[in-house]
Amino acid sequence: MSESGQQNQKQADNIYQQTADWQLNTGDIKIVAKRLLGRFRSLKWLAMLTWLPFFLGPYIRWNGQQAILFDIPNRQYHFFDLTVYPQDLWMLALTLVFFAILLAAVTSVAGRIFCGYFCFQTVWADIFTLIEGKCEGQTPSQASKFNSTPWTLNKLLRKTVKHSLWLLIALLTGLSFTAWFTDAFQLWHDYLTLEAALPAWIALAVFTTGTYVLAGFMREQVCLWLCPYARIQGVMVDQDTILPHYDQAQGEPRAKLRKSAIKEDKGSCIDCNLCVAVCPTGIDIRQGQQLGCITCGLCIDACDDVMTKTNQPTGLIRYASHKEIHHDAKPVQLYKRPRVMVYITIMLLALTGVVSGVTGLSPAEFNVLHERQPLFVRLSDGTIQNKYTLKLLNKTQQNMFVTIDISGLAGATLHQVKMTEIEPGKVLPLTVFVRLPEARLESEITSITFIANMNGEIDNNLTYQSMFLAPKL
Ligand code: SF4
Ligand code: SF4
Repeated sequence: MSESGQQNQKQADNIYQQTADWQLNTGDIKIVAKRLLGRFRSLKWLAMLTWLPFFLGPYIRWNGQQAILFDIPNRQYHFFDLTVYPQDLWMLALTLVFFAILLAAVTSVAGRIFCGYFCFQTVWADIFTLIEGKCEGQTPSQASKFNSTPWTLNKLLRKTVKHSLWLLIALLTGLSFTAWFTDAFQLWHDYLTLEAALPAWIALAVFTTGTYVLAGFMREQVCLWLCPYARIQGVMVDQDTILPHYDQAQGEPRAKLRKSAIKEDKGSCIDCNLCVAVCPTGIDIRQGQQLGCITCGLCIDACDDVMTKTNQPTGLIRYASHKEIHHDAKPVQLYKRPRVMVYITIMLLALTGVVSGVTGLSPAEFNVLHERQPLFVRLSDGTIQNKYTLKLLNKTQQNMFVTIDISGLAGATLHQVKMTEIEPGKVLPLTVFVRLPEARLESEITSITFIANMNGEIDNNLTYQSMFLAPKL
């Protein structure tokens, strides 16, 4: 054999050697995915950083208080300067619609890209398996050997380190989740002094246990059997969806690389199994698209690496649509895909609703109820009096000073109202009387406008149209 032939053989032997240990996931063994460097691996690390705000967000302060706080006991949701009350929850519903449709749109364009790069289950499981690999062995045989050997101090130490790190991450996850619902610094204090409220302990326990079990033990089984999104994604993808595909025309017939370089009559797949070995869900993408594929692209990294080492064109496994791979068709532009356009339209409508809701948020809520029993009373001097109950909700974070005025009813006077102070987040009920001398009466029913004047500024949103009722003329 020539020198270059020997080198090729050595290269090939190295590749096969790498994966001698790995096999397809048939559900009976624990997946130990091989870790390789590559562009999609790097992208995955970068995408994982999007979870940093989850841990750091609760500690951001704004005007002396937590910038983002879901204050459920007080039914207030704070986003920096914005405070949302249950009355404005329709905006939250629209936001949820926006993200649900965004997920559908992204799936329709690029499959389970959310699962592969952003989903908490795959991200946490990736970190947990990284820790496990460092403690117990990086290959299935190393891990199995480690687990089957008798207990030694070294084994005990390694197991303790692994589970301690898992629990630490799980605990931090539970604590970070809970910190979005109460003051984060106070929460740390309350946990450390064992003074936290029962719901805080329950939330911590549920999320810590959930993270520990799901990311540490169940891992890809969650993606395969538990996740509802995995089940419904099939209806969101079509033949134009970009997914990791194995190019059969390029790769088949596959054959082991033996004795020399690639044979002329063979495809480029050298059947090295590296794409299976790196797959976090343990599937073989060469068998076609499968439910377990989370679109992470790690098999692309692995195969590109093999192709480069065997001097063949990369892209045997690549992100492409079914039509591109099987019919050599060009990718369809997004605007020519009705499904995507419908998703985008719904998203834009939801976004418009949220933006107009946020920009139109009033600093207070103002309602006026006309007394029904009786509709009016005639005073001893003949003046007609109507009674109203005013309700004012202060939606700001400062005390609010309010005066009430009326307009639209000539000659009418407002009684029993003086400047009133309302605390942040509180509702103030006010009973007021409007009186009109009988001589000024023009109709049995006259429109009257109540104006809430807050902190000296008249806000157009805080007027309320009501009725002044009088006896028949
Ligand atoms: S598709 Fe690529 S990585 Fe997978 S077995 Fe073939 S050559 Fe190896
Ligand atoms: S087949 Fe490839 S893209 Fe799909 S989950 Fe496995 S490694 Fe990720």
